[in-house]
Amino acid sequence: MQSFIGYRCSVCGKTYEQDELTYTCPNDGGNVDVILDYDRIKNTSSPGKIAASRDFSIWRYLDLLPVADPGHTGTPLWAVGWTPVFDLSVKAAEFGLKRLWLKDDGRNPTASFKDRASAVVVARAQQTGVEVTITASTGNAGAALAGMAAAASHPAVILAPKTAPPAKVAQLMIFGARVFLVDGNYDDAFDLSVEAANALGWYCRNTGYNPFTAEGKKTAAFEICEQLSGMVGQALQSNWYVPDAVFVSVGDGNIISGLHKGFKELSSLGWIERVPRIYGIQSEGSAAIANAYRAGTEEIKPVAADTLADSISVDLPRDGLRALRAATETGGAYLAVSDQAILDAMVELGKDVAVFAEPAGSTAYAGMKVAIEQGLIGANDEVLVMNTGSGLKDVGASMQATGKAPVIEPLLSALQSALEA
Ligand SMILES: *Cc1c(COP(=O)(O)O)cnc(C)c1O
Ligand SMILES: [Zn+2]
Repeated sequence: MQSFIGYRCSVCGKTYEQDELTYTCPNDGGNVDVILDYDRIKNTSSPGKIAASRDFSIWRYLDLLPVADPGHTGTPLWAVGWTPVFDLSVKAAEFGLKRLWLKDDGRNPTASFKDRASAVVVARAQQTGVEVTITASTGNAGAALAGMAAAASHPAVILAPKTAPPAKVAQLMIFGARVFLVDGNYDDAFDLSVEAANALGWYCRNTGYNPFTAEGKKTAAFEICEQLSGMVGQALQSNWYVPDAVFVSVGDGNIISGLHKGFKELSSLGWIERVPRIYGIQSEGSAAIANAYRAGTEEIKPVAADTLADSISVDLPRDGLRALRAATETGGAYLAVSDQAILDAMVELGKDVAVFAEPAGSTAYAGMKVAIEQGLIGANDEVLVMNTGSGLKDVGASMQATGKAPVIEPLLSALQSALEA
């Protein structure tokens, strides 16, 4: 909190004081990065200090966040982050990779990566004294805001497209948010939420608009480096460990931008030696950023999104520029995968790794497999794949991937013939 200085626009580079803006750059509408005072952080914090913390949540990184503690202890805000990293050594051998890890962010309190962002936005909302926070969401950002707002007793309003999967809508409702299903797509809900926030004096959490979402999301990069240090047996007092490549699914592009910022910050602090190559994976049916990457341009053209991975189904990515640079500035890449590859990855993760991912979560794993085929990663690489959401969010997609279980008579003979079938 004390190290929060102001903002810098990702388009024009202009810097702003803390109180000069709330969302995007007044010049050009560009997304802004929160600027922190790294010299101050170096003096007040260290890898050893953080490693000694008994707080196993995103709040162990409070020294690197632009908010004060929202009073998280003993509430679900305390369960955000510090999600497990699994060592997929059998898969690494099968794929010919040096090492392969999977970090399961489906295990956050509302079962997606979005809790990281919503927890920090709710902390910011409390500290600025706004009465209501609103967000547009394909489901997960809204569920995360509704859940984290409930944990902090803060009123939330959620606008989701009326096509959002039922489990996600149920989550919005149960956390007591005011929920409205918009007769339109996510982009329509986005525009309406911005208009409503401005007209009604509410705080808008929207992804790729509110600068504090990326601040929450960067904590996953911190965790990756700190947790891998523990897993490879590197002393946590000095530098933390960095994988060679990180794979993450991309819709609006805010998760990948947040991860990139997190790695850059650890590098600026001298706590890691280098930034990993970052690979953004999109669905072929929603590939605006991957298209720009392939065309070698920073101009991101909207698409008519059509993919079963609803959490990454986006016509116009709201954080496209920073998301593109997360790959181009780190030597990573963008790849697009088919819906079928996404479903296959869901099944493979469930069966071989015991992780139940939603389609947008398994997309990163599907992309990692394409990267192996294309020779982008190989025997020299230590690779970490993010799963961004739980499969319980969208059981329709998992049933589509696995087919239905047969119904049988409650008789041994029936079981035996079904086993043979
Ligand atoms: C939101 C979301 C993403 C994509 O994040 P962006 O910031 O929109 O790129 C990926 N997976 C899941 C499960 C999500 O909810
Ligand atoms: Zn600007």
